[in-house]
Amino acid sequence: MTETNGSTTDNAHHETTDQLTFQNPVTRYPEIEPPIQDQPEPGLDADLVPKTDRGEFSYRGTGRLKGRRALITGGDSGIGAAVAIAFAREGADIALNYLPDEEEDAQWVRDVVEKDGRKITLLPGDLADAEFCRQLVTDAVDTLGGLDILVNNAGRQIAQDSLEDLTDEQLEDTFNVNILAMFRITREALKHLEPGSSIVNTTSIQAYQPSANLLDYASTKAAINNFTKGLGQQLAPKGIRVNAVAPGPFWTPLQVSDGQNKEDLPEFGKNTPLGRAGQPTELAPAYVFLASSESSYVIGETLNVNGGTPAP
Ligand code: NAD
Ligand code: MG
Repeated sequence: MTETNGSTTDNAHHETTDQLTFQNPVTRYPEIEPPIQDQPEPGLDADLVPKTDRGEFSYRGTGRLKGRRALITGGDSGIGAAVAIAFAREGADIALNYLPDEEEDAQWVRDVVEKDGRKITLLPGDLADAEFCRQLVTDAVDTLGGLDILVNNAGRQIAQDSLEDLTDEQLEDTFNVNILAMFRITREALKHLEPGSSIVNTTSIQAYQPSANLLDYASTKAAINNFTKGLGQQLAPKGIRVNAVAPGPFWTPLQVSDGQNKEDLPEFGKNTPLGRAGQPTELAPAYVFLASSESSYVIGETLNVNGGTPAP
């Protein structure tokens, strides 16, 4: 790893091994000690210290999503960006949703995907807006020429130490973006998804181990697990599979835009059995597996990717 002014340089991950190399998970990435930092919501990967591995130098595709068409929400940064890069390297074309303030991160993802020779369409907009959720699916279908993968990944997380500090505005925004938009986008997508299609929802370890300062966020993640298991049964006979991925602590812009208390940042991820935070690209293979036909008998499952913390 090269260090410049305390932050890793963009080419730091040139030395990183790909996900198919035999390697020790404890040392695949160094332990990080993020400095105390603050970004306005939604936060940018461009300004995050240290930088993350979203797979641009490390994800190796093997053709598992050849010709597929994927809509990914929250795809500009963090986990969604790593999923977009992996899907493109597996052969898929991508429609990416994010907030207008995240244009810089979205263009970074577009550059990586286009260098890989895949098509990517940027569709910014606010998922708290029900009408936008409908329009997003229509626009994705129009530009991709159809849709067979939906990744519901966008989410907001604002820590509040006390329930008394949780405003109605925050409460409603969190539920709107994290779970209501998931219902709305998925409902709209069903008009287009053919048998063989796959829906993957991003939930969290918070669904079963809620932090005391993330009551609204953790509640939406429990709802996402439940939605995934119910909808999975409803759509199985139609040949559409629904699953979820439950990340543990991953280093992303979510954490520095009030997702955690500032003073907790240097210790982020150290309490996992692996002893370090996850890098976004370490999640990508879980999404690829659930999106591809190789998981044809896996439905309503929550795949935990959390560095070893026991989870149901
Ligand atoms: P991130 O900040 O990189 O991604 C979250 C994305 O959500 C943002 O990029 C933004 O585009 C999108 N978003 C937020 N509000 C939105 C709105 N109103 N309209 C449209 N998009 C909106 O952080 P991340 O950690 O990669 O988060 C991705 C998902 O992973 C989230 O659902 C988060 O809850 C989940 N998750 C993250 C962690 C972690 O440790 N990082 C752990 C468990 C679950
Ligand atoms: Mg972002």
